[in-house]
Amino acid sequence: MTPTCTCAICTQPTPEPMRSGGLDICFKCMNGGAAQAVQDRGWQLSYSESKHSTNGDSHYRVKAEGKLDTEIPFEVAVRPKTGILKVLGLFWGIKMPDPLFNQMVYATSSSGAAGANFLGDDGVQSAVMDLLGEQIDITIQSDGIHVHGQRKHDPFDQSRIELEMAVLLAHTRRYLDGEDSL
Ligand SMILES: [Zn+2]
Repeated sequence: MTPTCTCAICTQPTPEPMRSGGLDICFKCMNGGAAQAVQDRGWQLSYSESKHSTNGDSHYRVKAEGKLDTEIPFEVAVRPKTGILKVLGLFWGIKMPDPLFNQMVYATSSSGAAGANFLGDDGVQSAVMDLLGEQIDITIQSDGIHVHGQRKHDPFDQSRIELEMAVLLAHTRRYLDGEDSL
């Protein structure tokens, strides 16, 4: 008998899972259903986007928050490594074995090893890099996961950001449960 996989977001059996952020995800969660699935687990996910135009340029701003049903006992801030952060990153910030991650990501944590351990998971790194690729900052702290970003010309992809947030929430829950050897 082939073991049936379970979707990491909605926890329903999914015979042919897709992968995102190192997790098995069902078709529904992968395609716009992640926010609802998160709420069904008693977690919260809010999303807001605004647009304003100046001199014919469209500026988009996005803000999203995800909360588990419990406090998160560590803190991590992750930023795309651009501008001054490139310089700061030479001296400070959490370093990972993956050179591409270190090149793209400026990460700090006030909780020492816990933050580094959490970011040390390949799946977490891939979810984080997907969000940073959308020019989005991520802060994980006791009351939940906060992301915000702004950019010109292109609107943000709500279902994609909600999916990445749900993936990070699922990783955080897993980390707190002490599953695997994170
Ligand atoms: Zn699912």
